[in-house]
Amino acid sequence: MFRIAGWPYRRARTSDWAASARGALELDSGSRVGVIGGGPAGSFFSYFLLEMAERMGIELKVDIYESRDFGSPGPANCNHCGGIVSESLVQMLATEGILLPTEVVQRGIDSYVLHMDVGDVRIETPLHEKRIAAVHRGSGPRGVTAVKWHSFDKFLLDLAVKSGARHLRERVRSVSWSEGRPRISTKAGEPKSYDLMVAAMGVNSGGLKLLDELGIECEPPKTTTTHISEFFLKPEVVERYLGSAMHVFLLHIPNLEFAALIPKGSHVTLVMLGREINKELIQSFLDSPEVNRCLPQECRGEHRVCSCSPRINIRGAVRPFADRVVFVGDCGMTRLYKDGIGAAYRTAKAAATAAIFDGVSAEAFRRHYWPTCRAIGADNRIGKLIFAATQTMMKLRPARRGVLRMVSGEQCKPPERRRMSTVLWDVFTGSAPYKEVLLRTMRPGFVPHLLWDMALATRPTAKADA
Ligand SMILES: Cc1cc2nc3c(=O)[nH]c(=O)nc-3n(C[C@H](O)[C@H](O)[C@H](O)COP(=O)(O)OP(=O)(O)OC[C@H]3O[C@@H](n4cnc5c(N)ncnc54)[C@H](O)[C@@H]3O)c2cc1C
Repeated sequence: MFRIAGWPYRRARTSDWAASARGALELDSGSRVGVIGGGPAGSFFSYFLLEMAERMGIELKVDIYESRDFGSPGPANCNHCGGIVSESLVQMLATEGILLPTEVVQRGIDSYVLHMDVGDVRIETPLHEKRIAAVHRGSGPRGVTAVKWHSFDKFLLDLAVKSGARHLRERVRSVSWSEGRPRISTKAGEPKSYDLMVAAMGVNSGGLKLLDELGIECEPPKTTTTHISEFFLKPEVVERYLGSAMHVFLLHIPNLEFAALIPKGSHVTLVMLGREINKELIQSFLDSPEVNRCLPQECRGEHRVCSCSPRINIRGAVRPFADRVVFVGDCGMTRLYKDGIGAAYRTAKAAATAAIFDGVSAEAFRRHYWPTCRAIGADNRIGKLIFAATQTMMKLRPARRGVLRMVSGEQCKPPERRRMSTVLWDVFTGSAPYKEVLLRTMRPGFVPHLLWDMALATRPTAKADA
């Protein structure tokens, strides 16, 4: 697990830090921190920094620059995303005392339905709990007039503001250096210099280009295009077709790694991830019989109220820090395809911990923040292997039938014996690191069991049944 152990007193601050020569590169009472972006990474960073500073008796001034109004519906105020808050993140937040309010959680997800051309199978959560939350990042897609469910990003931003951060509803136009300190300029007001600048602007606003102006060595993340559509449906229609299950599609469509239909309150969110998802690919997915079974034609057309093609980080930034500058969340390092909000939490908390306890020099971030990013990057390499293996298996009909048979047979077994179901559950939900998923496939019995199910599923009688 990517745990950041033992906060808040993980380690004492350098004993004579106030007097030390490095003092200029440490945060002290009165230090100013500028955070560009009030998505999950910027809000988590500000929240943890201020909480830790308070415990250490340091008074910091934190400005969060975020021009979106997450309290208003519509695409301009939304950070485009599937809106699944993973099981592990829900638990980690609960241990921090951060509980997601019911008006933010549009639906608790209690199961996954896996759709393949050879059949469908429902995978229940091991303990039948609804611990995965489906949220909207803004206050809802285009067309929402009365806000019924609240924005997840607004909830986090409010949390940071309650801890003492100041939210400036301004867009950062340029950054520069002024007397060795990063300086942030917006359209309104005077440019402001900071003791630490936090880049939390994600990968979707072109904001990363701003940082070229700083001339630091960081190599930006690599991204690809994805797709999201929102379908507005009556809650009873959502319930009838999708229930409280996330519907995952493993189809043999080139370049498509993963697609899912996620039920919300009165919307269904379609998410498609892969390599450069384009119009043709989206159409061939929507035309497939598997999708038609759970989102029939009458639920489309004018019901499709919003769609976008956000970019997703598929390789993290290299050296996402410099003296007085640190990158968190998507614009630094995130998990491959899954649990981006969870990665924003982990990177933001690690960077805040480093800034408070070790200072804001490049060396402090290299020693105390970079290991968290590196661990995520290493796990992503395993994730790539898992996605490549899944793609290869999905090309082979006997393998697809074997997986289906194995998962179906496991549903009546106790949770510890549901080997394939747990592997798929963790891959789809992003609830466990990819390394853990890989290790589970190496446990004795996993491969023989799959081969046995493949053999049984391809018997002539089984074929006739299918
Ligand atoms: C199709 C798709 C589906 C996804 N589904 C999920 C999912 O189900 N679950 C999950 O956990 N993750 C998911 N993710 C990933 C998740 O969206 C990101 O990992 C997460 O949003 C990263 O948070 P962040 O704060 O780093 O960046 P963002 O959420 O992108 O926030 C960046 C913020 O910075 C602001 N900003 C940018 N430039 C400026 C500027 N110049 N001045 C001021 N503010 C600025 C923006 O307005 C924005 O609010 C998905 C991603 C995609 C593309």
